[in-house]
Amino acid sequence: MKKCIKCGCLFTAENEDVRQDMEILTEDERILGIGEQGAFHNEDAELIDLSDKFVMPGLIDAHTHVSMKGSLDTTPLFQAIPGDIMIDAMENARADFMAGFTTLRDVGGIFYADVALRNAINQKRVTGPRMLVSGSMLSGTGGHVDGHFSPHIEGAMLGCVVDSPDEARRAARKNFKYGADILKMAATGGVMSLGDTPGAADLTYEEMRAAVEIAEAHGHTSSVHAHGAEGIKNAVRAGVTSIEHGMLIDEEGMELLAERGIYLIPTIIAAERICEGGKKGIIAPWMLAKAQQCLEKHQMNLQRMRQLGVKIGFGTDVGTALNYHGEQAEEFGLMVGCGFRPAETLLAATKVNAALLQMEDKIGSIEAGKYADIIAFGKNPLEDISAMLECCFVMKDGVVYKKGSKPVFGF
Ligand SMILES: [Zn+2]
Repeated sequence: MKKCIKCGCLFTAENEDVRQDMEILTEDERILGIGEQGAFHNEDAELIDLSDKFVMPGLIDAHTHVSMKGSLDTTPLFQAIPGDIMIDAMENARADFMAGFTTLRDVGGIFYADVALRNAINQKRVTGPRMLVSGSMLSGTGGHVDGHFSPHIEGAMLGCVVDSPDEARRAARKNFKYGADILKMAATGGVMSLGDTPGAADLTYEEMRAAVEIAEAHGHTSSVHAHGAEGIKNAVRAGVTSIEHGMLIDEEGMELLAERGIYLIPTIIAAERICEGGKKGIIAPWMLAKAQQCLEKHQMNLQRMRQLGVKIGFGTDVGTALNYHGEQAEEFGLMVGCGFRPAETLLAATKVNAALLQMEDKIGSIEAGKYADIIAFGKNPLEDISAMLECCFVMKDGVVYKKGSKPVFGF
């Protein structure tokens, strides 16, 4: 079945250009071609009229947590049974999908709900975005995933606690056994985790290298939660694919990222939301202090990394405190506030992220042969970036899931 999409403004994400009055022809799940208005008038195709819209490729959020839904802290996760987490994951992924995110890289799942959801979406049993998932995140004892403080409870509840290269290997193998697509580790403490320090190194070079070797052997990429400079450098030397957050990076770390072509996923919104909550007095003081510390130099560091030519992708950490699914497109405005051009932020969430996911031949731009993941907005985000908050059309794999700002699927 062919479809012809009339586009008012078309941003294909091959570069920063915008073309007026173009058409896209799709067949089944793929894009067949792009042409000027009327180019496909001989085709027997269903017409989709987006002639008053800004049309672009589906967005990719390279840092999500579908298992988490924006709670003030991790307490609800400790009180949930696996089924609760699964239902949350389905709802959260769908909210992201309706906001225009047709692909998620979910880094830090709970109870393997991320793996089950990805499978169910691929099998077309559940409606949702395309997903790449990590399964359980790895950290050390007392680290980012070691969230409880009772010596009578064994093991971590939010991820895998590892304290040696052997344990790291075992945890990585276990994740891939259960179906993970990528590896996720914590090289430093974090903001939402009680008792650890964002600036302090957690997993060692040897532990991360051991896990990365398993990922490489399986042909998978790796992502690392890291704020502090030492942790970032340990992770870079261990051969990871992306650094998540990177908010306390130093000059040497920034140069290493640029030299080695390692991606940085800024997730500005995650710290920003906690700071906003702090102003309302609803955030625990220890968490607020950590978020403020992380955010302080982030803007300046991002500018420096941009100058150095670091590959900066787009990711939101959606699901963390007050960072709600379906609302993460605010990250675009925050990136613009940090000095990025609007078109640059759109490319970060499409072309750059597709390369990070090693899917640049399939998604990330509107080109013949790629999957027909196409979204639209009522206003032009290059003129007003807040337009990204109101996605009115979503197509994934050539199937329309949102039209006239309303979902068009039943389940
Ligand atoms: Zn995260």
